[in-house]
Amino acid sequence: MRPQPIPFDNSYQRLPEQFYHRQSPAPVPAPSALLVNDALAQQLGIDLDWLQSEEGLAVLAGNAIAPGSQAIATVYAGHQFGHYNPQLGDGRALLLGEVVDRHGQRRDIQLKGSGRTPYSRGGDGKSPLGPVIREYLISEAMHRMRVPTTRALAAVASGEQVFREQGGLPGGILCRIASSHIRVGTVQYFAAQGDHEALKTLLDHVVQRHFPHCRDSAAPYEALFAAVLTGQAELIARWQALGFIHGVMNTDNMLLCGETIDYGPCAFMEDYHPGTVFSSIDQQGRYAYGNQPAIAQWNLLQLAQAMLPLLQGDGEADLKPAVERVQTVLNQFPEHYISAYRRRMADKLGLDDCSDADEQLYRDFLDLLQEQHCDFTLSFRKLYDLANQALPINQRGEAIDSLFEFPDAFAPWLQRWQQRLSEDNQNAEQRAAQMRQANPVFMPRNHLVEAAISAAYQGDMSVFTDLNTVLETPFDYRQQLAHYASPASEEEQVRATFCGT
Ligand code: AMP
Ligand code: MG
Repeated sequence: MRPQPIPFDNSYQRLPEQFYHRQSPAPVPAPSALLVNDALAQQLGIDLDWLQSEEGLAVLAGNAIAPGSQAIATVYAGHQFGHYNPQLGDGRALLLGEVVDRHGQRRDIQLKGSGRTPYSRGGDGKSPLGPVIREYLISEAMHRMRVPTTRALAAVASGEQVFREQGGLPGGILCRIASSHIRVGTVQYFAAQGDHEALKTLLDHVVQRHFPHCRDSAAPYEALFAAVLTGQAELIARWQALGFIHGVMNTDNMLLCGETIDYGPCAFMEDYHPGTVFSSIDQQGRYAYGNQPAIAQWNLLQLAQAMLPLLQGDGEADLKPAVERVQTVLNQFPEHYISAYRRRMADKLGLDDCSDADEQLYRDFLDLLQEQHCDFTLSFRKLYDLANQALPINQRGEAIDSLFEFPDAFAPWLQRWQQRLSEDNQNAEQRAAQMRQANPVFMPRNHLVEAAISAAYQGDMSVFTDLNTVLETPFDYRQQLAHYASPASEEEQVRATFCGT
């Protein structure tokens, strides 16, 4: 018998029926593949020839069910902008199943934009092409920039129009890969139902799948909470270090596995300012750049609350001791976050370690960026260029000289930084390597992503695919690609982003 082209091994579908609804994707009239991620397909053990065939395309478009796939819409709840919504769920997405990848890691395969489900509420379950392209570009770029994230396996045009405020737009479907799609909101759903058995089943599944070391702990669920918390601290530190603004940090958009999910109204900051917000639906600036660490902690508090029934120890008469224990873990979030963020900043500045005095050094740098309205990405990359000059000429990476020069106001700071480098334990070569990988030069800047989407709506997919190719090597500057590294001009500025789905 021919092996399955996608070697499905579905574990979430083996959980009780109240975890999901079995649902087939809605067929689409004329699918065409815009981009298929061959390298990722290979990692997942998917038959590439099949994936690129008509049959593979039909599966990516939702027109056929691959052997072994069991499509489901999963249920979850969540706090959206601080307000609890007891019933969300996959309203425009379907989990096709899971595979165990070449590294032995279990991965979800999901279609996004594949039609209505019982959780669609008023929505059509579809997506215009724009958000599909956006998620493909940004999630893959995040991966290349070493941020834990869901991945994009394929972007497909459906050949039908979907209707939004702007009128009809060409539709699209994204095939998304995640270590799992289990969210803080998934835990909240069963907690709010008062279904402790389901809650336990879910958390046991999460432990087994993502944090097997917690099984050996005397208090496995508390260990699980601590593991999720440190994962989030690490994740948000990585976002901050790249100027990434998620835009909708609702609890249904926070995965327990610690990967970034849902590239809706997200954007990268250009001029540094902690108050930066792009999302058109974030009127209050709840999810502004500088608020992201505190919001992550708020979301973790919601998770702790939802997990409480299972945190109560045998023989404890009430929840009070459990609340105190979990509060202690929660209170450690700032410490974990700051230590992760300091490591990232040390990498960006080329330091072997980040002491309290070094913290002042990067804070002062950020203050200067803010006062001088400097581009976050290019300013840090310029520091790499300066450090790089200490290397013999044949070992230097190409500098971005023509793109960015520090204003005079930076002179005293640059001197302090040079002084600090002279006291550091690393040699010039180590430092350049460290800084290079921490300071990307090619980013999915908002205006570039918007240009790719506009061109796609005009039928030209090359802007999307070319940009994706550039973003595959975010740390390698090439002068002929300089326009991809530049901040938006006045006319190109993107001031607001939309969920768009
Ligand atoms: P988000 O935070 O944007 O991921 O979406 C929040 C909720 O709205 C989720 O339950 C989604 O499945 C649902 N949703 C968003 N867009 C649509 C749509 N076009 N059709 C149906 N449900 C949707
Ligand atoms: Mg979501």
